[in-house]
Amino acid sequence: MSYNAPLSDMKFLLKDVFHADTFWPYFPYINENLDLDTAFAILDESAKFSSDVVQPLNRNSDEQGVTFSSGEVKTPDGFVECYKSFSESGWGGLCGNPEYEGTGMPKMLGVLVDEMNYSASNAFTLYSSLTAGAALCIDSHASEQLKQTYLPKLYSGEWSAAMAMTESDAGSDLKNIKSKAILISDDQYKISGTKIFITAGEHDLTSNIIHLVLAKVQNDERISLFLVPKFLNDSSFNHVIASSIEHKMGLNGSATCVMNYDGSLGYLIGEQGKGLSCMFTMMNYERLAIGIQGLANSETAYQLAVNYAKDRQQGTNPVSKQPCSIVEHGDVRRMLLTIRALTEAGRALSVYTGLQLDLSKYGDKVQQPIASKFSQLLTPVTKSFFTDRGLECTILAQQVFGGHGYIRESGIEQIVRDTRIAQIYEGTNGIQAIDFLARKIVHDKQIVLCQFVEQINSNMAEFEFVDQKLCSLVMKNFKTLIDLASVISKKSSSTLSNSCAVNFLDAFGYNIYGYFWLLMLEKAYSSNQHSCENKQYLCNFYFDQLMPNVDLHLKRLQSFDNSIMAMPIENF
Ligand SMILES: Cc1cc2nc3c(=O)[nH]c(=O)nc-3n(C[C@H](O)[C@H](O)[C@H](O)COP(=O)(O)OP(=O)(O)OC[C@H]3O[C@@H](n4cnc5c(N)ncnc54)[C@H](O)[C@@H]3O)c2cc1C
Repeated sequence: MSYNAPLSDMKFLLKDVFHADTFWPYFPYINENLDLDTAFAILDESAKFSSDVVQPLNRNSDEQGVTFSSGEVKTPDGFVECYKSFSESGWGGLCGNPEYEGTGMPKMLGVLVDEMNYSASNAFTLYSSLTAGAALCIDSHASEQLKQTYLPKLYSGEWSAAMAMTESDAGSDLKNIKSKAILISDDQYKISGTKIFITAGEHDLTSNIIHLVLAKVQNDERISLFLVPKFLNDSSFNHVIASSIEHKMGLNGSATCVMNYDGSLGYLIGEQGKGLSCMFTMMNYERLAIGIQGLANSETAYQLAVNYAKDRQQGTNPVSKQPCSIVEHGDVRRMLLTIRALTEAGRALSVYTGLQLDLSKYGDKVQQPIASKFSQLLTPVTKSFFTDRGLECTILAQQVFGGHGYIRESGIEQIVRDTRIAQIYEGTNGIQAIDFLARKIVHDKQIVLCQFVEQINSNMAEFEFVDQKLCSLVMKNFKTLIDLASVISKKSSSTLSNSCAVNFLDAFGYNIYGYFWLLMLEKAYSSNQHSCENKQYLCNFYFDQLMPNVDLHLKRLQSFDNSIMAMPIENF
């Protein structure tokens, strides 16, 4: 299988849809040499690296997997060399803080590079993705001394990182964690406990692994965050021990470890008792990254399926009555168009979210607070909508292959297996939806949602090329969502938010994709893109075939109350 990065779509988004170069010159800390040509050159290089260096390892990484022996984890053949080359090429510190030797590139560019890497190999990319997320957390919350010691080596790829939250009795609900921290001096603690499911907790890619561990300080029920290196500064072993690895449905090249911290030295990050909010910096980063995993898999699945559909001869063309390739059949076209329409809209949302993250960090005093709220609002949407649609898209692509899609040789079944986890880890998609509705909307009294919708509506009011009836439909749906959120708020019941959250998020997701389709079409026409024709076909398909999902989810939202909670627990 070969992967061709969708570079022209990516460049179209940066240049014509979001006008990235109008923001960059005003962002402090963004690499001062950055302009569109440089950004495009970075995308071109990333495309080459992901397709020529990373992607060829993906198949074997699934077959061979990681192996475990006496506490040591060996990654699949080629991973060590590839990680070295990835790091030496500077990809690890791409969006890192330049004060600590990061490259200082904006996130709206970073999301596209992430997409290419995930398309090339989910398993390989997780190692660097966790490292970048941990670095962001350290940069945002750790002491100056910790930043100076750890950030340059994390950005350079000499060291990597892991996120250690989950325990056997603490998954979605982290307040039950049992890992303990005992103060020794200043900000130094001895950490003890067992964490499960820790991605990249142990491996052979880097000389040190930096664990960000959630634990409770003795006699304090609140959660704190600690930086626990596998090796200390004097190179002594810090009793960070992998006791086993998991055998999984997919993602076989990614080490998922049970980790024991046995009186390991740890440094407090942020204030004692504020560990969860510090960890949220990393979690939110990873949530967007994992959303992009779903999106990236949809793209790869599309490429595989469309090539197969053009080659595979089966049946006859209904008009010419001649034998034909399956791409000529309406049902196969439906599947391919669904994947493509969802993926291109998702990519637009991912770049938009990247822009909000950049504005929240580097924007002016007016932009920063708004963008920060918008990125918080959108994070659970990108995580769960991208990954739910991601699984659907990879399964549709597998369906295009018929029976051949069920056979390992086709390559598509690996993508289905690898993408499944993205709906589960980094907070299950159910939990994301509850976060979106209950915390980000109801608890906020719909204020940010209304501000966000207002911005979208005022953008659409200026559209000149697209059908205004479609804009009105998107606006009407947003209004219904705001009204429903207000009804749910008034009932102020967490059971209610819990049971209708997924439908709320899905209605929002399909509707915002509708907006991004109109935005892309508008910009394709106004900038005279050669892609206008395809964007028009895909936008028409989206509004005819996928936009009706908004109505379905809105309808479910209006009737969830009785049917979901009615049956007594003992009747299950
Ligand atoms: C391959 C893999 C890699 C992972 N990597 C990491 C990692 O690097 N670091 C790390 O810390 N963790 C990691 N995890 C753990 C992962 O994040 C958790 O498995 C996930 O958050 C869910 O927790 P759980 O498995 O305990 O499920 P549970 O919390 O037991 O949830 C079970 C089900 O109940 C639902 N549920 C739970 N509570 C509620 C509620 N209040 N309302 C509605 N529904 C609810 C959930 O949505 C889910 O459907 C990984 C897991 C896997 C499988």
